Amino acid sequence: MQHKNFKNIDRVTYGRGSFSQLAQTIEPIRKENNKYFVYVVDQYFHDKSLKNQLQNLPEDLIYFIDVDPHEPTTEQIDKLRDEILAKKGLPSGVIGIGGGSIMDIAKALSLMLTNEGSSTLYQGLNLIKKPGVYHLGVPTISGTGAEVSMTAVLTGPEKKLGLKCDWTVFNQVILDPELIESVPTDWWFYTGMDTYIHCIESESGIRNNAFSLAYGEQALKLCREVYLGDKSGQTPENNDKLMVASLMGGLSLTYSEVGVCHALSYGLSKIHGTRHCFANCVIFQHLGDIYPKGHNEFMNMLKLHNIELPQQISKDWDDATLTAMAQVSYNLPFMWHHAFGDNWQEKVNIDYIKSLFKRL
Ligand code: NAD
Ligand code: ZN
Repeated sequence: MQHKNFKNIDRVTYGRGSFSQLAQTIEPIRKENNKYFVYVVDQYFHDKSLKNQLQNLPEDLIYFIDVDPHEPTTEQIDKLRDEILAKKGLPSGVIGIGGGSIMDIAKALSLMLTNEGSSTLYQGLNLIKKPGVYHLGVPTISGTGAEVSMTAVLTGPEKKLGLKCDWTVFNQVILDPELIESVPTDWWFYTGMDTYIHCIESESGIRNNAFSLAYGEQALKLCREVYLGDKSGQTPENNDKLMVASLMGGLSLTYSEVGVCHALSYGLSKIHGTRHCFANCVIFQHLGDIYPKGHNEFMNMLKLHNIELPQQISKDWDDATLTAMAQVSYNLPFMWHHAFGDNWQEKVNIDYIKSLFKRL
């Protein structure tokens, strides 16, 4: 068995107001390359006060990106990379400020600035040839763990798959809980549930171990404080906790694996464009037999926060659609193996996966 040798984030700043240290943090890096930074910022902040706190210099490039029409694509990254290199050459670094989508755009852009050709060439594990430029992530919505993971998930013409290697991991992350205060309640719920599901899946499978469990248990404890009980809700104290839970949930799955919900989620997202965290919630409500304890708690959290998920969405899917979805999910053998053990193929096949999708 090959043991994982995971590259962690080089440096992490955490605390309310820590975003104000951004300029001072990147100052020493400015001597690299052409002494300028590229900011990729969620469009949401275009007319918000955060824009005035960026402390960018006149030579820096700022892109406000609307992440709502679709999740990050290979085409989008290639175009952005070509434009930046043509305009100003290689930057000192890339700074991403936003949710999982922006984290992935910043990570992928950093890599693609130094690796030739289309990003579609590098979707997979360790296909990237050269280290990217310095990259710094500032999450503004918590849950996906994209701030800590070694992958930059991109949707390409062929597949939805990450650029996955040690160089993908951020050099620096700034976790400022004040930045997640404006997240709308439904997104606060879906994205936080991504952390919750990461931890449930990480602990419920054969790759679970003391290392992944230590992070997972702590992240679950924080999730329960944020989403269950009379102190739950979008309070400053809970935002402090959620940011840490997201990071720890990401570390838990890194040392273990995700499971059935995520395998299905990729199929749903790839074929129907459903957003990752929302897709997980839509699916997890139907996995009571596979993750009984987590499911029970999840249903309580839904009720407590008045979140209504869509029902009976599979009624419009024909057999060809279900097969296409099932094929995407089946091609994630690590997740099925983790969830069902060495003999997973005795249970899991295209028909079984289609039957899971028919529950939705
Ligand atoms: P997101 O980045 O897609 O943003 C969701 C919504 O929240 C958007 O409308 C955005 O504008 C808004 N938003 C962000 N911050 C806000 C704030 N502070 N106030 C108000 N609105 C705000 O959200 P996400 O769920 O964090 O990320 C999903 C993406 O992450 C998907 O593309 C998925 O593929 C990717 N993902 C990556 C990994 C990884 O390890 N790399 C893991 C899971 C998911
Ligand atoms: Zn996830």
